Amino acid sequence: MSLIKEIVSMEAEMTEWRQHLHAHPELGFEENRTADFVATRLEGFGIQVFRGIGKTGVVGVLKVGNETRSIGLRADMDALPIHEHNTFAHRSTNAGTMHACGHDGHTTMLLAAAKYLAESRDFRGQVNFIFQPAEEGIGGAQAMIEDGLFEQFPCDSLFAMHNAPKLEVGTFAAIPGVRTAAGAFFDIEITGKGGHGAFPDQTVDPVIIAGELIGSLQSIVSRNTRPNQTAVLSITQVHAGDAYNVIPGTARLAGTVRTLDLALLQQIETRMRQRVDGVCLAHSGSGTVDFRIIFHPVQNDTQASAIAAEVCDQLVGENHVYRKGPPGTGSEDFSFMSEVVPSCYLNLGNGANSHPLHNHDYDFNDSALVYGASFFARVAERVLQEDDE
Ligand SMILES: [Zn+2]
Ligand SMILES: [Zn+2]
Repeated sequence: MSLIKEIVSMEAEMTEWRQHLHAHPELGFEENRTADFVATRLEGFGIQVFRGIGKTGVVGVLKVGNETRSIGLRADMDALPIHEHNTFAHRSTNAGTMHACGHDGHTTMLLAAAKYLAESRDFRGQVNFIFQPAEEGIGGAQAMIEDGLFEQFPCDSLFAMHNAPKLEVGTFAAIPGVRTAAGAFFDIEITGKGGHGAFPDQTVDPVIIAGELIGSLQSIVSRNTRPNQTAVLSITQVHAGDAYNVIPGTARLAGTVRTLDLALLQQIETRMRQRVDGVCLAHSGSGTVDFRIIFHPVQNDTQASAIAAEVCDQLVGENHVYRKGPPGTGSEDFSFMSEVVPSCYLNLGNGANSHPLHNHDYDFNDSALVYGASFFARVAERVLQEDDE
């Protein structure tokens, strides 16, 4: 039981890379400098580099021997439109953009594993290092898949990880089955008839319709969903009007729905449309629903998860590896990759003192780098081990 000593000795270099990436965050599909950073280093390690896969995506290929077997290791590179509140030296220099989900750490760990594997070459087969753009709800995984990612770089199995604020550093979770939720974003446009705030009888008030819908839509979860099925419906935006004495002509609601089951997400869409039509009709107004499925559930393959857990056992000891646990209601676009290739999406502890993901005080914990990088390197050696015939 131990980490990879060559990777532990790279800790200072990894920390420097991670803090550099943190200071220079870029939004999805705009990761040009980040992609340059990744590609330059991969080339420096002697790894063949392919760019422009899914716009700003980068793939590095390292092949040893003539075996056709292969593994994919995936990290995400994008940041979020958040104004960082941290004041440390490596805070964002790109105002309004922040690495608040730790993708700076994910990218660094995969780069470090690439450097180690390119030097040690202790495997037979092909490692595909997949640096994905635009994970945060804007379709980076699908963009890479549509650009032929898995045709050009076939992967027998695929591994990815995300840092987890509530887990201790040096702890992993490698759990089979559904791990993250399917997610949709929706916009509801309500059209009424505007007029004077003192003469409501001459209007169709879209604010009243919106208010009724906010309550009614919650009852899709409480009344139309089986009690043992997970469903979340959150209205996160309410927009209407801009004067004290004017009833506006339109109102807009927007939000997100999460379920662990894609079919349930589609049922909720149907119920949402019925409620919007019905409530609007009751008030002589009208409404439209734009419901967009953004994420599918991440489905961890049983065998890939067992291999991942074994590798984690070797690194940190089995007392620090979770093999069971309920899925979360967050979403992750690695789901689209996990539908194509047998995969395991792990969690890596970011420390109990970590701020939550997507929070303006969040920072990736640099002491977790050696764990994640060691995992990526060891899982490649394990899957592609030389005597595995
Ligand atoms: Zn995120
Ligand atoms: Zn993330």
